[in-house]
Amino acid sequence: QLPGENDLFYSTWETRQKIKDIAVKAGALIEADLNINEDIPPRWSAAPDLAYLEKNFFDYAAPSFNSPPPGLKLVAAASKRAEVEGVAREITRLCRDLNYRWRDMAVILRNPEDYYALINTIFTDHEIPFFIDLKRPVHYHPLVELIRAACDTVITNWSYEAVFRYLKTDLIPVAREQIDLLENYVLAYGIKGSRWTDNKDWTYRRHYLKDSLEEDYLEAEKETVSASLAAINQIKKEATQALRLFQEEVKKAKIGQEISLSLFKFLITLDIPGRLSSWRNEALALGQLEQASEHTQIWAYVVDLLEQLVEIVGTEKISLEEYSQMLNAGLENLRLGLIPPGLDQVLISSLDRSRNPNVRSAFVLGVNDGILPARGSRNVLFNEAEKEFLEQAGLTFFPGEKRRLYLEQFLVYTALTRSTEFLGVSYVLADNEGRAATPSIVVSRLKEIFPHLKEEFWAEEPDGLNEEGFITRPARSLAYLTSRLRIVKAGKNINPVWWGTYSWLVSQEKWRERCKRVLSSLFYINQEPPLPVKLSRSLYGNPVKASVSKIEKFNACPFAYFLTYGLGLKERAQYKLTVPDLGEFYHAALKEFHTRVLAKKINWSDLKPKDCALLTGEVVETLAPQLRNEILLSGPGYRYLTQKLIKTVGCATNILTEHARRGKFSLVGLELAFGPKGNLPPLRLKLKEDTWLELSGRIDRVDLITSPKGNYLKVIDYKSGAVELNLNEIFYGLKLQLLAYLDLVLNYAPDLIGSDALAAGMLYFTLQNPLIISHGPLDPDLVDKEVLKKLKMKGLLLADPEIISLMDNLVFTSPDLLPVAFKKDGCFTSRSSVISATQFTILRQHLRQTLKAAGEEIMAGVVAIKPYRGQKFASCRYCQFKAICKFDPLLPENNFRLLPSPSKKEIWQGLSQVNTKEI
Ligand code: SF4
Repeated sequence: QLPGENDLFYSTWETRQKIKDIAVKAGALIEADLNINEDIPPRWSAAPDLAYLEKNFFDYAAPSFNSPPPGLKLVAAASKRAEVEGVAREITRLCRDLNYRWRDMAVILRNPEDYYALINTIFTDHEIPFFIDLKRPVHYHPLVELIRAACDTVITNWSYEAVFRYLKTDLIPVAREQIDLLENYVLAYGIKGSRWTDNKDWTYRRHYLKDSLEEDYLEAEKETVSASLAAINQIKKEATQALRLFQEEVKKAKIGQEISLSLFKFLITLDIPGRLSSWRNEALALGQLEQASEHTQIWAYVVDLLEQLVEIVGTEKISLEEYSQMLNAGLENLRLGLIPPGLDQVLISSLDRSRNPNVRSAFVLGVNDGILPARGSRNVLFNEAEKEFLEQAGLTFFPGEKRRLYLEQFLVYTALTRSTEFLGVSYVLADNEGRAATPSIVVSRLKEIFPHLKEEFWAEEPDGLNEEGFITRPARSLAYLTSRLRIVKAGKNINPVWWGTYSWLVSQEKWRERCKRVLSSLFYINQEPPLPVKLSRSLYGNPVKASVSKIEKFNACPFAYFLTYGLGLKERAQYKLTVPDLGEFYHAALKEFHTRVLAKKINWSDLKPKDCALLTGEVVETLAPQLRNEILLSGPGYRYLTQKLIKTVGCATNILTEHARRGKFSLVGLELAFGPKGNLPPLRLKLKEDTWLELSGRIDRVDLITSPKGNYLKVIDYKSGAVELNLNEIFYGLKLQLLAYLDLVLNYAPDLIGSDALAAGMLYFTLQNPLIISHGPLDPDLVDKEVLKKLKMKGLLLADPEIISLMDNLVFTSPDLLPVAFKKDGCFTSRSSVISATQFTILRQHLRQTLKAAGEEIMAGVVAIKPYRGQKFASCRYCQFKAICKFDPLLPENNFRLLPSPSKKEIWQGLSQVNTKEI
């Protein structure tokens, strides 16, 4: 009887017919068909339940099997991981208890991609040798990446990404560490394009704006200078020699054959066959047979692909871009079929592959709805009617939807009939995203045929039911033991079998150490004890040399301070403008502006807006090339930024001239450095045990007024972002810079101005060109007024109207320059930022105590992971060390220092305890 098109075995019959036709045509003798249709075929003689399954799965009229099927297991798994773990345990059990060989078992998958990664790790953990029978894509192989990256390098004119994809393939004759050095240099100086190929040595170094005294920059400079440029140039030469030759050749190539040839020559220049052969030998030596096989086959495949391209476009005029697209498509579709490298392995096979040998035991995974049988694809080029039409015209197609469904049934049949003794069928209850997954109709059909079949459940962790079953191999058992002991640590009981496992592991010499190491994780505390004092001193020195901002960082989190200044960790330098770069630029611009004003013998107060604009333009044009190796000239984006910088500096100089017009204070110094090489000595504080803290830095601006009451000094700090001076932050030691500068100038007033001085104030000046929002056109004078308001200085001033009026003579009528305002009765409003002379003294003393306390903790080796969290800010927010400290507020040892926000009154009450006599 001939099978119909809808018959389960129609494809098999079709194949038989084709073979028969060929045999007839070849004149071969064809013997009569042999009927092997017995009740129980010999291969299932040991498993009548599996024979019954084979015979009746698609026979819906067949009676059910009337006893429990010993050779069949049906499992619902909590997840794919639980499913693969369970199969690994079953395979181990069959080997251990029933003397199976690995090769007697197979895992059968309908959607192999979903399982390969899991099988790889879990089977390796269980020490199960396995072979994944799959034609593997090779687009990840270094040789494929090398070819693609080489073409992309030429096409993109040596873009950073393409060049370093090429250099990191390990197929070039330069070690990876040297490539890392080269990459750091290239990133820091933004090298691309012809700078790689112009045969000139690189001599880029970090340039700094005149008078830049930022310590970090100076440190970075030292580092760059010490890095050997000669070494970098040598690495560049060796790493790119072959690539530059390839570029020369391929640029001359006009037709496909010439491009293929230049690519082939390039690969030979790099001795790729030799390199692959040594990789193969290394893999063989390590027992990595699959990798060895890949390295053996890939060269032949690539050469074959180049030859195919010669056949297709050999004589055609073609650009490298077009050629590269074709090459990429070829490389993308390259698949390597690997022969099983060993004889005794569990076979992991896909139902799509023909290699589904008979085994004693098979596990069919992922028997879920829509997976086995698979759902049809809507993504088709021809519809059913078109396919039928084309088939009638003699074009054989991949089967249409109807046939495909029958083929899926055949795959179900194949999956269920591979094993001769034992069949495991499993499905998952949840997919990778945790969504509920339903079992396939295959599962319900199995339950129909075998009503006595008991469904098992596999959990991810020992679940209290079959905990012994989880104890298979030592490595896996140790992992489960760790999670069980965590339960004990939480004060609960566990199955005694785990104590037995623990005793066994520690009694084995091979496992004792590993067990100790793994279990120590249970007692790990994510906190850092202090460094030994000796180590701390050798790390930071005596005196501890720091800046005020470094102490602020210590107060924010000692661990972040240790990583930054103790270990010297920092992010890789990149060729881009950072906020500190802009800050440096603004400071230099304002200083240069002042120098030019002095040179022209003009008073600040006489400068008109157009003078400011003109001078600012000149200053920015002069300084722009000096910033980060001409970065401001490196592209249209940066040129636009330069215009914005001109506007911002122009706006700042306008406001400063307004201050000069309204005030009587005179300039004492701009960019005043204090420290070993500065205009003023460092701020030195004595700590315990004859140790010292020495602070250096730079004060942006100091002004003086001499009045009948005495000399008064005020300090100003330029900031490129909006900033407030908050008493809370001073109180907690998180914002000390401005106060420290004021303290220093008052301390060294005799050196600076020739006599003692009193505090007039400390202020932040924001460098911005603010946006004024309005609902219609605005009068220019009104705009200027709004700008003044937006850029009003922030800080603290001496509560003395007379001194304040010397800073701004319009303060009583137009209080738009300083953070003060007056009531009608002449008193300060409650929102004015003013404090008394005594309060200034209290703050200065508090500053010194805070600095000393931090210095002593640094000397004592405090490196605790101790960030703070205030109402508006937390120290971890912008910290780049999150991945290192692993601070986790859920751990009992990782708590934020919660900083409450006391009222002004409470702060002053707290500060009133300080001893002001020392000042
Ligand atoms: S992320 Fe937080 S805890 Fe970690 S180092 Fe930074 S500030 Fe400290």
